[in-house]
Amino acid sequence: MFLLKSIPKVDKFIQDKRFDDLATPLVVKITQEVLQDLREKILDGSVTSFSEEELVQTVLQKYDKLTSPSLQRLINATGVIVHTNLGRSLIDEKAFDRVKALVTSYNDLEYDLAKGKRGERYSHISDVIREVLGCEDVLIVNNNASAVFLILNTFAKKKEVIVSRGELVEIGGSFRVPDVMRHSGAKLVEVGTTNKTHLYDYEDNITKKTSMLMKVHKSNYSIEGFSSEVEYAELVHLAKEKGLIDYYDMGSGHLVDLPYGLDQHEPSVLRYMQHEPSLLSFSGDKLLGSVQAGIIVGKKEYIAKLKKNQLLRMLRVDKLTLALLEESITSVLLGKMDEVPTLKMLFTHTDELRKNALSLQDAISDICESELIETRTVIGGGTTPNRTIPSIALTIRIKDYKQNKMERLFREKKIIGRIERDKFLLDFRAIKKDQIGQIIKVVKEIADV
Ligand SMILES: *Cc1c(COP(=O)(O)O)cnc(C)c1O
Repeated sequence: MFLLKSIPKVDKFIQDKRFDDLATPLVVKITQEVLQDLREKILDGSVTSFSEEELVQTVLQKYDKLTSPSLQRLINATGVIVHTNLGRSLIDEKAFDRVKALVTSYNDLEYDLAKGKRGERYSHISDVIREVLGCEDVLIVNNNASAVFLILNTFAKKKEVIVSRGELVEIGGSFRVPDVMRHSGAKLVEVGTTNKTHLYDYEDNITKKTSMLMKVHKSNYSIEGFSSEVEYAELVHLAKEKGLIDYYDMGSGHLVDLPYGLDQHEPSVLRYMQHEPSLLSFSGDKLLGSVQAGIIVGKKEYIAKLKKNQLLRMLRVDKLTLALLEESITSVLLGKMDEVPTLKMLFTHTDELRKNALSLQDAISDICESELIETRTVIGGGTTPNRTIPSIALTIRIKDYKQNKMERLFREKKIIGRIERDKFLLDFRAIKKDQIGQIIKVVKEIADV
C-alpha cells in the first residue's frame, strides 16, 4: 500500500503558495474531500498513480467552481422573449440602477414617514397600480402561483370553487392548477366538458357551499374547433347575482394592447377591469415584463381579507421586488415602453431585426455560411398559446458541422439558438443590439478550432 502512504497530509499540502490568497477553511475542506476521494479510489483499484500537482489543480478547480457565481449570463437567440428557462423577463438597466440606490440604503419599506410610525409594505405600489388599472386595491405576493393559493385559501377553504374542465391547466415545471387548488383546502367543482362549458354549467352547480366562480387562463394551449367557453364578464355577472366571488387567474397579465393582433387572444388587464371583477391575479414577469411577482387586484373588501390571512407572511415580497415592479409599472404609466425590455422586444419592427441580422451576417461572411430568413416565433412563458409573431433569423453553418453540433458549440459559448427544419439558427427577436459583438466573437472562436 505504498500509494496510500504517499497521499499528502492536509497541513502540509495546503502550504502550497497557490493557496496563499484563498480562504483557508474552504481550501482545507476541499482538500479533505479530494484526498478522501483519492483514498477510496486507490482502495478500489480505480486509481493506480497520482501526482501532487494533479491534486493541487483539482483543489483549485473545485475552489474556483464553488466561489464563482453559478448563474451565468446568456444570449437568448431562441426568439422566445418570455423564456422561463432563461429567466423570463429582463430588467431595464436604468431602472435597476435607480432601485440599486434604494436597496443599498435603509428605506421606508414599512415606515410611514409622515406619521413616524409603522407603515404598510404594499402601500408603495398600490397608488401607481390603482392609477394604471382603476382598481380599488392591490396586493403583491411572491408569484402568481402564490396568488392563486392565497386567494383560494382565504375565500374557498372547505368550500367549493366552480371552474371549467377546459381550463384545468398544467403549465411548465409541472405546476398543476388543480393540485394547487386542492392544497389550498378548496374543493374543486369541475363543470362542463373539455371543449365546451356554458354559463348554465356554472349556474347549475352552485350550492350552499359555493364561494367562488373561477376562470383560469389557458396559458399554454388553446382549444380550437367545436369549442366554447364562458366570457369572464358573464361569470362576474352571475357571481354578483348569486352573492359569490368571481376570480380570474389571468396567468400573464399585461397592461398594454399587444401587437400582431395578439390582443384578441390575450386582452389586457385593463379590459378585464371594465367588468369590475372581484379579484384578478397575474404574473409580474411574463408579459408585464417585470420581476417575479404575483399581482392581485380587485375590490378593497376582498384584498383586505387577503391581507389578514397569516399565510401572506410566507408569500410576501422583498423591497427589491416592490421597487423593481414599481419601476416597470411607472414606465408603462408614462408610456415609456422602451424601459420595459419584454415590451421593447415585442414591439420591435422586423425591419430593425433585419438590420441587426445583416450587421452580423456582414461581419461573419468570410468565416461561415449564413442565410437571412423570415421566420416566426412564440412569445413563451405561458402567454398567447399557439400564436406566433414574425421574426428574423440567420441560419449559421460552420465547416460541415451538423445542426446539433452547431447548437451545442454555441450553447457551450453561452449562446442559446434553435434548430428549425434541420438548420441551426439565431433568431433576432430577443437578441439585444449590443450583444452582436459577442456573437461575432463566438462565431470566430468556433470557426477557428
Ligand atoms: C404562469 C401561470 C401561473 C403561475 O404564475 P407564476 O408567476 O409563474 O407563479 C399560474 N396560472 C396560470 C394560468 C399561468 O399561466
